[in-house]
Amino acid sequence: MALLVMKFGGSSVADAEAMRRVAQRVVAAHRAGDRVAVVVSAMGDTTDDLLDLAGQIATGAPPQREMDMLLSAGERISMALLAMAIEQLGVPARSYTGAQAGMRTDTAHGRARLLDVQPDRVRRTLEDGAVAIVAGFQGISTDDDITTLGRGGSDTTAVALAAALHADVCEIYTDVDGLYTADPRIVPSARRVTRITIEETLEMAAHGAKILHLRAVEYARRFQVPLHVRSSFSDQEGTWILVGRPLTEDTMEEPIISGIAHDTSLGKITAVGIPDRPGAAAAVIGAVSQAGVSIDMIVQNVSTTDAETSDISFTLPESDGQTAVAAVRGLQEQMGFADVLWTSHVGKLSLVGAGMRSNPSVASRLFSALADAGVNIEMISTSEIRISVICDQSDLQEAVRSVHTAFDLDAEEEAVVYGGTGR
Ligand code: ASP
Ligand code: MG
Repeated sequence: MALLVMKFGGSSVADAEAMRRVAQRVVAAHRAGDRVAVVVSAMGDTTDDLLDLAGQIATGAPPQREMDMLLSAGERISMALLAMAIEQLGVPARSYTGAQAGMRTDTAHGRARLLDVQPDRVRRTLEDGAVAIVAGFQGISTDDDITTLGRGGSDTTAVALAAALHADVCEIYTDVDGLYTADPRIVPSARRVTRITIEETLEMAAHGAKILHLRAVEYARRFQVPLHVRSSFSDQEGTWILVGRPLTEDTMEEPIISGIAHDTSLGKITAVGIPDRPGAAAAVIGAVSQAGVSIDMIVQNVSTTDAETSDISFTLPESDGQTAVAAVRGLQEQMGFADVLWTSHVGKLSLVGAGMRSNPSVASRLFSALADAGVNIEMISTSEIRISVICDQSDLQEAVRSVHTAFDLDAEEEAVVYGGTGR
């Protein structure tokens, strides 16, 4: 007998019919003898609709506490309806809010972090032979206020619940068949990945692949929760995300490259002509992080025209551009640098694979593929299992397709995309 956590995204519970299909799936697992805890997202576009409504009522930023009260209601609707649908099929089910399920968070409304997870009621429900359903994306703060975990946060609820219950697996049901070697909407020949390590998944998610909430992946790595990402529209196996296994153990059979992530949400700042002395990078990057902006990639170069100065470029979320530019401009006079340049529409391609550790030719193969496609590389950064390049956003799709082909990742058949959002 296994203990399963099954998480269903908004597109999997979009209407009554979808809800019934999910209920059948849950009941099938329950009848097969497994203990099942379910985590649900809000139905379809409910969260967006609620945000929209709040925008019509409140001019300016609505009170964050009330915003969380409002948004957490979306998942409450799903959990109650799903419990009813499961009861209809003759299996007892009980739904719980995040607070009832023991999801204790900090007080940061709209982006709360889990501090402690005590799902006693869920545990008792499972012991009673019933299905437990937990509302995703929410918790209760140390001040006893309702909080939400940030967009896409139901994944994190599911992983946290699986960790606390010591579940055998956390199944993430979505509208795609699993993780792909590239976004199938851009690369129709992308292939479903059958197995991938959690470290590779973390790199993919951190660099733009919209597969799982990044914090959910971090959580799964920390608490060693095995994940299975699969489609709620088919019975096919999806992608197994493996934890707690040395990365290189069976590299003989593992592909060198697991996938290509891309990101179109970035911008770039360059501080030009910074006097070259200790503390310069600390000051520039420090000012940006103090403004609450997280930096992605950093490159520092001695200026080509003046050896006494250097240029620092870094990428960041495009939406934080104004804030960060202002922060850097604030230092300009005092530090005596020449200019601050802002570039929007920056594209990033990231090649991820545990096998690249032992394969020195990966970088040159990547750069040749980009050269053949006529893509100009602006910045490069690497980790042990990832190489990322920054290029113009207009080149990005072509770049991803070319690199996908260059690493022999293309499948014979086109990927199945169910027209959803991958959530
Ligand atoms: N309903 C929330 C959102 O749309 C949480 C989630 O779907 O995971 O962001
Ligand atoms: Mg959603």
